[in-house]
Amino acid sequence: MYLSKSGYVGVWSCPKGAWIGRYHPEVLPQDSNRQARFRVGSEVGDLARGLFGPYVIVTASRDGDKPDLGQMVENTRTEMEKGTGVICEASFSWEGLFCAVDLLRKEGDGWAIYEVKSASDGYQDKYIADVSYQKYVLEKCGVRVTGVYLVCIDTSYILGPEGLDIHALFRINDLWEQACWEQENVPAVLRMAERILECADEPEMELSEICRDCELFSFCTRDLPRPNVFDLYRLQRKKMMDYYHQGLISFAELDRAGVIKNATQKRQMDHFLKDLGTYTEPEKIRDFLSTLSYPLYFLDFETMQPAIPFCVGTHPYAQIPFQYSLHYIEREGGELKHAEFLAESGTDPRREIAEALCRDIPRDACVTAFNKAFECTRLKELAGTFPEMAGHLLAIEGNVVDLLTPFQKGWYYKKEMGGSFSIKSVLPAICPSDPDLNYHSLEGVHNGNEAMNLFPEIQYMEAADRERARENLLAYCRLDTLAMVKVWEELRRAAKADHSTGK
Ligand code: SF4
Repeated sequence: MYLSKSGYVGVWSCPKGAWIGRYHPEVLPQDSNRQARFRVGSEVGDLARGLFGPYVIVTASRDGDKPDLGQMVENTRTEMEKGTGVICEASFSWEGLFCAVDLLRKEGDGWAIYEVKSASDGYQDKYIADVSYQKYVLEKCGVRVTGVYLVCIDTSYILGPEGLDIHALFRINDLWEQACWEQENVPAVLRMAERILECADEPEMELSEICRDCELFSFCTRDLPRPNVFDLYRLQRKKMMDYYHQGLISFAELDRAGVIKNATQKRQMDHFLKDLGTYTEPEKIRDFLSTLSYPLYFLDFETMQPAIPFCVGTHPYAQIPFQYSLHYIEREGGELKHAEFLAESGTDPRREIAEALCRDIPRDACVTAFNKAFECTRLKELAGTFPEMAGHLLAIEGNVVDLLTPFQKGWYYKKEMGGSFSIKSVLPAICPSDPDLNYHSLEGVHNGNEAMNLFPEIQYMEAADRERARENLLAYCRLDTLAMVKVWEELRRAAKADHSTGK
């Protein structure tokens, strides 16, 4: 059996997930998040190579870009014999087990393993499993391992005007004790890997609490009725699993058992089971709409979260706004107008976006956002960064009304929303057949994560691709605020009804 470091961690995390990766790789999501995680991991890994001075990289390839593992093992042996201080991708192989150590550092009469992660939490169990496997393989290869460390990002680091300080950006956690302790489990995981990965039959595996966050959740629950207990609005994880294990899976089963008491969750089940129409509470919606006034603005930001900060005064993974869309109506019955801003990729966008906001939104305008905490926090951060614009930005922030409120409070519901009140669920429920209001018809960018992943890439693109990417970003963000306008129009219609409906 051949097993790599990531293969080992895969089996350790979930044997079924590892089996799917080997026998059904086609079901692994190939979304931009996965690619972005990979890209960020490489960038962070490359940067960390300079932590201990000069280093040698032992990677080798053949037939184009296929890694030549045998050559890498050979190169590592040569560098170790030479006594090279830091070896990057130091490679070892023992009876089919392979691992490449991110940084192998000479330490007295032995060698220390440094595993680099782009995460901020360096003590996750899966990281301990990862370094334990590396220690195990190296020791089987006869290497004297004297230290095991995990290099991760320190999110308290703030980029100063003097530039990036990698010694302050990275935090080094000593995992020696944890790795020694966990290493006892390595043979058992290897036996499990052999049993699971050598057999083409899908392993039986009970769902557990961690499954809800797994990218293979849809595959592993493909035989369950839809919708089911996992789709209920904000049901606690523990309760979800309890009901699931009691066989209360479909909405009909949950309804018969009478275990769901929460009003929003009950409404979600009722509307599905009884195929009810739109539920509204017109009076509450009217009260909500009376808090809005003209000129009326609909605002939405897109942000990026660079792991390695490049904007002075920001920390790793800070939310940096680079784009907004703004629909607005100046007076009752007035024309719907639009303004937008999109920064140049590769630059610090904050001053320009702050100036554009002050130009586009009057201080006393009524501004709506969908889930306003996000927009308000960005506005406050910009105000803190640019004191000369703080008065205007904080005035905008103070005027923001949350369009999510009527949905979150349960004053408006349609079964098509399922258990989510995000704009991506609300829009298709209220405007199901307009192709211009369909996120799926957009090109390239369909959600905030795709926008976040695409924007930093634009700076490296050819001119034509760059233009197309910018158009896609603009179209996506524009649809977000147009969706908000449609939501507001629908609420106005609902407010005119005489009484509650569809309960
Ligand atoms: S959903 Fe659960 S069982 Fe399926 S692969 Fe993920 S963690 Fe494993």
